[in-house]
Amino acid sequence: MTNTNAPKNLLPVTCPVCGESQNTMVGGFDANGLPAGTINCMVCRHEFQPDAYIRALELRRQEFARLTGPGEI
Ligand SMILES: [Zn+2]
Repeated sequence: MTNTNAPKNLLPVTCPVCGESQNTMVGGFDANGLPAGTINCMVCRHEFQPDAYIRALELRRQEFARLTGPGEI
């Protein structure tokens, strides 16, 4: 990790518009490690609604946990 103070468990979520998983975030993070500001899609500039972002993030964490489960790497 270089120029970010993002929490390690913060994964980019998939954009519902273009399907890319590249997010830009404005502002820092709250006490729960969630973005305190606006989250946009880096590709199409779609702005994620906070509740939609949280749901998408939870899905991504579950996917990531399966991908990197015991026995991998
Ligand atoms: Zn997008």
